[in-house]
Amino acid sequence: MKDSKIQMQILIALGLGLKRNWHIFFGILAGVFVGIFLHSHPYPIVATLLNFIGQVFIRLIQMIVIPLVVSAIVIGITSIGDNKQLGKFGTKMVVYYGIITVAAVIIGTILALVFKPGLGAAHHIAATTASKVQASVAAAMAQQQGHLLNMFLDFIPSNPLNALAHGNMVAIIVFVLIFAVALSKVGDVSRPIVSFFESVFAATMKITDWIMFLAAPGVFALTASAVSSFGMDIFASISKYLMVLAIGFFIQMFVVYPIFLKCFSKVSIWMLYSAIAEAMMVAFGTASSSATLPLTIACCEKRGISHKISSFVLPLGATLNMDGTALLQVVAVIFLAQAYGVPLDPFLLIQIGLLAIVASSTSAGISGAGLITIALILNGMGLSPEQLVAGFAFLFTIERVTDMMRTLVNVTSDAVVVAAIADNENEINYDLFNNPEAYEEIA
Ligand code: ASP
Repeated sequence: MKDSKIQMQILIALGLGLKRNWHIFFGILAGVFVGIFLHSHPYPIVATLLNFIGQVFIRLIQMIVIPLVVSAIVIGITSIGDNKQLGKFGTKMVVYYGIITVAAVIIGTILALVFKPGLGAAHHIAATTASKVQASVAAAMAQQQGHLLNMFLDFIPSNPLNALAHGNMVAIIVFVLIFAVALSKVGDVSRPIVSFFESVFAATMKITDWIMFLAAPGVFALTASAVSSFGMDIFASISKYLMVLAIGFFIQMFVVYPIFLKCFSKVSIWMLYSAIAEAMMVAFGTASSSATLPLTIACCEKRGISHKISSFVLPLGATLNMDGTALLQVVAVIFLAQAYGVPLDPFLLIQIGLLAIVASSTSAGISGAGLITIALILNGMGLSPEQLVAGFAFLFTIERVTDMMRTLVNVTSDAVVVAAIADNENEINYDLFNNPEAYEEIA
């Protein structure tokens, strides 16, 4: 009895002494175990409570995303100042994000062609209760029916306040980018408004610190809710598909990013991963790059990457750079093509790859967005309407687990690119960045 009391005290002391990223890590682990248990022993009250805690956490961070994105971009662009430098950063950012996304698409295509996860999977797809998700499928399809050009047109907000009210991230960013460039051109009169946004940014960062107290319980609750809804049986039924995805994400994180950083910078991937550990875990738990953005910015800035670079590159990355999503989209589409016997000639593969790059970057950084935009690729695949609905419904049933994985990859690559650009521009404080012991806690 006494022993167990002492053990408990030691555990608590250890827990309190550990850094927050360990708390979040244990939150994820505990969430997986509790989720597995709840899947086989459902307790509606516990499920409701977990869902509530998870939603409180997600909503609190979502609450500050828009003020944060707007203020970060205004400060970032006005601090860069001259057009030439801005153009240089912008071009570099697009090229770097492009390289990483093209690598993801190639890796996904090769893995799906080599492992052929879709062969013989038609019966799993047929066994899916498509009726459960019919409504979401129909809505998703309808949303993607419009012409590609119209989709790009929607990126230009005819009313920026409307875009703000609807949280239409790409449209908001387009407006803020133009607005911030204009501010940097008008000289001293821009000072009051830039100061205003500096205050907004500082306050949102402070709120991020506070919200981080909820990170471990929030991520625990989100993970437990997610795992309890899909259980572990899912891994048995479509293990090959999930295995291909997991290998693809692993290669992105442990082969592509290290090679990329070696080629374009002197940033150590391990230092970067320790600097952004909390953001990576929150990305996994929330399955939303946008919701993780405040934390990604806080991790980068508090651990040595300059504000000038991260405030400009990270919000754009969280909205436009979705290499994990692109990888999932090519694997999922090839999976369905294999299941339904659609011949995959090189032209079709190139079409899938190119559309995945467009579809992924137009996906919002929120949970489930990448599966909606996949309709853009599926529509031109030559599947019958019934196959389309059944295939889509099947992907929906295993959505959350793949979303958690791909969001982790999306957020990590945002930080990889920001670190590379900051290195190129001498905007990393390496004394701090390479010394995890000295890292300041978020909060
Ligand atoms: N959930 C992903 C993200 O926020 C987007 C997606 O659904 O693929 O990065």
